[in-house]
Amino acid sequence: ILQVHQLTKTFAGFQALNGVDFSVNEGEVVVVIGPSGSGKSTLVRCVHQLETIDGGSVYLDGELLGYEHHRSGVRPLTPRAVAAQRRRIGMVFQQFNLFPHWTILENVTRPHRMSHGVGAAEAEQRARLLLKQVGLEHKADAHPRELSGGQQQRVAIARALAPAPRIMLFDEPTSALDPELVDEVLAVLRDVARSGVTMVVVTHEMEFARQMGDRVVFMDAGRVVEQGTAEQIFNHPKSDRLKAFLSRFR
Ligand code: ATP
Ligand code: MG
Repeated sequence: ILQVHQLTKTFAGFQALNGVDFSVNEGEVVVVIGPSGSGKSTLVRCVHQLETIDGGSVYLDGELLGYEHHRSGVRPLTPRAVAAQRRRIGMVFQQFNLFPHWTILENVTRPHRMSHGVGAAEAEQRARLLLKQVGLEHKADAHPRELSGGQQQRVAIARALAPAPRIMLFDEPTSALDPELVDEVLAVLRDVARSGVTMVVVTHEMEFARQMGDRVVFMDAGRVVEQGTAEQIFNHPKSDRLKAFLSRFR
């Protein structure tokens, strides 16, 4: 459902993505690994149209994102059109960014209502179902500061799932957490994956990648260096760069 072709992205002369090809099939969990600075966040941010792209293309369900074809190539879509496309993508960041003055329930319902024009009753019903799924129905009326980091991240996952996006992007969802809170968030990710949601997960949690990745993509220096099944990537790495990267986790 997602195709990325020859994506390039440059920041002030620095090439963060250098011709990335990448695709995700419906229902698949694709895990992206790679050293710091290899372009993992830039890739998911470009997919989510949080960054303009300098070359290449991103297609969701066969539709070009962020740009439209016209006679001499492509031109950017209007912000309104891009916003409409982005609603089909859910994203969870390292920092949970909940609204501190809203309750947990409001944090899940309000963005859903505002961006998707969903009615109050429907949004609340959906939010309560999702809070239950992430194990936080009893916290619906609490405020973010009353929750642990792991709980806040679980709310952020529920918030992103609320509009039933076609694909969920996770950018290191556990790296801002204290170690003892990582497992509860990974458990929620497993549960979301098992429910059939298509997901791209950038993570340094190699155990999770090995278990849950239908496909694992290794990036280095703005390129996809190697990709394959978890078995291929972890047990039979081909490139020296991947071997060196994996040796740090042993
Ligand atoms: P990490 O594991 O540390 O999160 P990453 O693989 O996600 O790393 P990116 O954040 O995608 O890496 O960054 C890729 C490169 O692009 C880095 O060298 C980074 O410094 C650079 N970069 C990213 N965002 C910007 C920006 N807004 N302005 C300038 N350079 C940037
Ligand atoms: Mg990153």
